[in-house]
Amino acid sequence: EKYKEGLKKTRTSFSDRMNNLMARYRKVDEDFFEELEEVLIASDVGVNTVMDLVDELRMEAKRQNIKDSIQLKDVISEKLVEIYQGDEDEQPQKLKMNDDGLTIYLFVGVNGVGKTTSIGKLAYKLKQEGKKVVMAAGDTFRAGAIEQLQVWGERTGVEVIRHNAGSDPAAVIYDGIKAAQARGADVLLCDTAGRLQNKVNLMNELNKVHRVIEREVPGAPHEVLLVLDATTGQNALAQAKTFQETANVSGIVLSKLDGTAKGGIVLAIRNEMKIPVKFVGLGEQMEDLQEFDPNAFVYGLFA
Ligand code: GDP
Repeated sequence: EKYKEGLKKTRTSFSDRMNNLMARYRKVDEDFFEELEEVLIASDVGVNTVMDLVDELRMEAKRQNIKDSIQLKDVISEKLVEIYQGDEDEQPQKLKMNDDGLTIYLFVGVNGVGKTTSIGKLAYKLKQEGKKVVMAAGDTFRAGAIEQLQVWGERTGVEVIRHNAGSDPAAVIYDGIKAAQARGADVLLCDTAGRLQNKVNLMNELNKVHRVIEREVPGAPHEVLLVLDATTGQNALAQAKTFQETANVSGIVLSKLDGTAKGGIVLAIRNEMKIPVKFVGLGEQMEDLQEFDPNAFVYGLFA
């Protein structure tokens, strides 16, 4: 239900465009495919992804001898799911857990994308599942980030390890690990800074935090989750590329999907980055973080 509500903007705009297209182009011909490309690009599916998809659809239409555009609808959703799932076996959708000891998730992403909010929501979700969670306020740079995480800590009943603003993030994360271990916690969620104005410094800082985590808990971090803002469309893809080069990203949290009609960005990220979208943000409340289900997403678009 939440899923359906959160995707309303994308669903309405996409299905309006699709229905419009099918009504205007009953015959599956080159004009139809060109219009279809436009519709998909307008939904932010991404030019490369659209080209791959439409090429496959041309072949499939020929192979199955499909002449009526309405008949092609099912094939379109099948292919979209296929594109999304890709080599899913290599990088699973579910969060990786440490079977013997503390599990650590490191969050990265540019300021304003919804990083702190997503950490708070995940803390809530994990707690609901019966896990003991601790959060570490590693964004010591952005004004208000530490207090904001503290507010989420109070809201969810999760302890927040914090130092003063401007202090060394690696030291905060180190204390977070020690505290989480001392309390027998299952999961530690680590916030980090996201100032992209000084990319080199930011990446050095993330590397240092990463090294502390690796040293203290072998095999950690178990996930490096990059938070991207769905409303920024193709810009989110560019950010993903920047972080992927240096931060060893293992999964994506796509926030604010409720705030855009161009939810196709999910498919573009998956197809171009080969990184799974593990969660989507569908609102500002605690419950508004959902595991991403590609089948439900794609079929939801056509509902
Ligand atoms: P950070 O700078 O990356 O830590 O970003 P914040 O967590 O402070 O989020 C920035 C703004 O986006 C806040 O006003 C959040 O309430 C809002 N926000 C975050 N996630 C979502 C979401 O999934 N949906 C909506 N509608 N708003 C969100």
